[in-house]
Amino acid sequence: MPELRQNLATKEWVIIANERAKRPNTYVERRHAMTESCSPHDDACPFCIGNEEIDLEIARIPAVGDWKVRVVRNKFPALSVDGNLTRSFNGVRRRVAGIGYHEVLVEHPHHNTTLALMEPDEIQLVLEMYQWRGREISKDPRIEQIVYFKNHGERAGASLPHPHGQIIAMPMVPGDIRRRIEEARRYFDENGECVFCAMLNDELAQNERIIMANEHFVSFGLYAASSPFHAWIVPRRHSSSFTHIRPEETAALARVLRDLLRRLYYGLNDPDFNLIIRSAPVKEPENAYLHWYIALVPRLSRSAGFELGSGVRINPSLPEDCVDFLRQVEV
Ligand SMILES: [Zn+2]
Ligand SMILES: [Zn+2]
Repeated sequence: MPELRQNLATKEWVIIANERAKRPNTYVERRHAMTESCSPHDDACPFCIGNEEIDLEIARIPAVGDWKVRVVRNKFPALSVDGNLTRSFNGVRRRVAGIGYHEVLVEHPHHNTTLALMEPDEIQLVLEMYQWRGREISKDPRIEQIVYFKNHGERAGASLPHPHGQIIAMPMVPGDIRRRIEEARRYFDENGECVFCAMLNDELAQNERIIMANEHFVSFGLYAASSPFHAWIVPRRHSSSFTHIRPEETAALARVLRDLLRRLYYGLNDPDFNLIIRSAPVKEPENAYLHWYIALVPRLSRSAGFELGSGVRINPSLPEDCVDFLRQVEV
């Protein structure tokens, strides 16, 4: 029998389609790992050493000498930093000036690497750069929401193979994020605890979908995974904002993130994926009901009309099977 499962935090339903269930190994990409098949330097790549567009650069680490991580303004930004935040609400037509930030975080000088292949201290540096940009952008009073994300591979929307992530900061809180906040607040009102803490504690107690746990973070496959290998990394310490992470926690996060990405990389042969850091709106104070986390969504199945029409995803794999498969990958 197929089964409907609900994610308690997002209230989203998913159909776990047991009848057409696919074994996890059917998702192993039948190809050479894309990342390593590239050359370490690409003359046409704007992120490679020697091709840096200095006028777009915001910062680099270290500031002098060979850089390890850089942040640059997106050459074709979705939102513009310059201008006034004007709003016009005219009947049913609402508009807000397209003010915001659109930055690219170049994660490594080498063209043919990815977070899964980097050392823990290199990943830590990337995470620290995200935090620093998040804290800096948060000082801009025009900004309401920052989205940190990464597209890896064509099916995930990446246009360049060079390892990079992105930050988009917006002058409003999008409806989807607003709805999640309201669900989290409602759960807190009804149950007196954070829904993310509750889900994390349940996963730890049940231990059926845990991928890795260290002193500060836990990675696990979701009970109501919306697609094969859909996983979260959740901090054990309740905190609403990614920018409030502590230095010792960043090192622990780098280890858990690296472990999860290596399991995917070696187990599934470098699958395309999206990574999203979900953090509270900038002006939302630390509170008892919002809990930041990382969502990892491999792009191994496609959405179609039913998903668009219902918001219900069909997952053709059993989440527990996918976690078993990942746990057995040698990393
Ligand atoms: Zn490159
Ligand atoms: Zn919590």
